[in-house]
Formats: sequence, C-alpha cells, structure tokens
Amino acid sequence: MKTAVITGASRGIGAACAKRFARDGYQVVINYNHSEQQAQSVLDEIKRNGGDGMLFHADVTNQDEVKSMMQETQKAYGQLDVLVNNAGIVQDAYLLMLNSENLDRCMDINVKGYFYCAQQAALKMFRKKNGVIVNISSVSSQMALAGQSVYSATKGAVNSMTRTLAKELAPYGIRVNAVAPGFVETEMLDTLPEEKRSAYLEAIPMGRFGRAEEVADLAAMLCSEQCAYLTGQTIVLDGGLSL
Ligand code: NAP
Repeated sequence: MKTAVITGASRGIGAACAKRFARDGYQVVINYNHSEQQAQSVLDEIKRNGGDGMLFHADVTNQDEVKSMMQETQKAYGQLDVLVNNAGIVQDAYLLMLNSENLDRCMDINVKGYFYCAQQAALKMFRKKNGVIVNISSVSSQMALAGQSVYSATKGAVNSMTRTLAKELAPYGIRVNAVAPGFVETEMLDTLPEEKRSAYLEAIPMGRFGRAEEVADLAAMLCSEQCAYLTGQTIVLDGGLSL
C-alpha cells in the first residue's frame, strides 16, 4: 500500500487531499500544527470510509519535527511515496505595513517549511528510487495582487524550487510538480474582507471560487501513472482568473 504525507491536513486543501489520497488507497499521514481536533475528525472520516492513516503533530518550520515525521512514517508504513507540501499561511499587508515578524513567519512556513519537508521526504524516496512531491503554490505567484507581495514572493519561490528540485531529483525517480490554485473556499478565504471577496469573484471568468476537492483531484492526478512523464511544472487551477 502506498503512503502519502500531507502537510497542513487539519482543514482546507490539505484535509481534502488527505481524504482524496485515502480514497485512492494511500495510507495518509495527516500533519497538523495547532488544530488537533480538526485533524482527528479528518482521520475519523477517512477511517469511517474504510481508509487508513495516522495523525502527526509537527510544525513544518521545525526541522527536527519534520525529520521525525518522515522517520515515523517510514517506521509505521515502511515507505513514503507522496509528499504534498501544503501547510501555508497568507498575511496580507501593503509594503509600508510590513513588519519583520510577519515577513519571517510567512517565509518560514511557506518556503523553509517546503524545503525541510521535501528534503526529509526525498531522503526516504531515494531508497526506492520512486516518489512524487506536489507543492501547493498559488496563482498569486504569477499574478500581482495588491497587498500580497510577501505571499506572492513565497509562492514564486515555491514555483522556482519546484523546477530546480524536479531537475535534481529526476535521476532518482522522484517527480516534483506544483499546483497554483486561484481563490479556493477554505478558512484562508474567510480572512478576506467582504468587498475584496466580491471584487475577486467578479474577476473570475467561471464566476465562482474553487473547491478544496478540486485542488485535491489535481494533486492526486499529478501523483498518478497518467502523469508519469510530467515534472517541474506549475499547473494553474483558477477558473480563468489569471487569463
Ligand atoms: P487553511 O484552511 O488556512 O489551512 C492551512 C493549513 O496549514 C492548516 O491545516 C494549518 O494547520 C496548516 N499549517 C499552518 N502553519 C503550519 C505549520 N507551521 N506547520 C504545520 N501545519 C501548518 O489554508 P488553505 O486554504 O487550505 O491553504 C492550503 C495551501 O493552499 C496553502 O499553502 C495556501 O497558500 C494554498 N492556497 C490557498 C488558496 C485559497 O484560496 N484558499 C489559494 C491558493 C493557494 P493547523 O491549523 O493545525 O496549524
């Protein structure tokens, strides 16, 4: 049975990925940082539907915790096949409002956390010369949204790391791709003020926000044999927003 580690799987896109990969027959490791109860209910739902998995508390900005997450996964399930680097935060602020605390936090979670997890996951994948990493980026990496300079810079870094890691890891049978969603209905979107929400909705040609399950479907497809020759790409999933 294959194993997938999904970071930030207590809710939103990560939770949808955990449920989708479990449905596809993976044993899933549901990583969370603060939301243990929500993570537990994701696992309960997976088990009720006949799937298998476990919870793992780790702050992705802590290298030791990330290392032990991958080690415990290997111990519990004997292998690691998929990493979905998903745990992320958005902290909108215009340039003059930026402070170093928010800047560091966003960089630490959205960039360093992705590197730590990719590094520790790749160490496990090297052994069997097989594996897939999916990085959850954002359409903000390619589209200028006022107030999102830090967030978009972190997601631009995710796209760049996706390309370079894909090149580095291809000889070891590991593929690396990214999904760049537009606006997706999760708690992250709840942080938007109502007037911004309506303006963004109007800008989406398909006339609706995306669903977490739609991101999970694409992540699952990227990990499937159908995409066996695809690596280093960032796939935009945004209902036409960036066109
Ligand atoms: P969300 O609902 O706010 O969920 C964020 C998840 O990340 C939570 O499970 C949270 O876990 C986890 N997390 C945050 N900091 C963490 C840390 N230090 N260590 C481990 N886990 C941590 O967000 P979402 O909308 O599902 O977003 C998921 C990803 O999609 C992010 O990378 C985001 O940038 C990207 N994205 C979202 C949208 C959107 O419109 N929603 C659009 C484009 C891209 P705890 O609560 O347990 O701490």
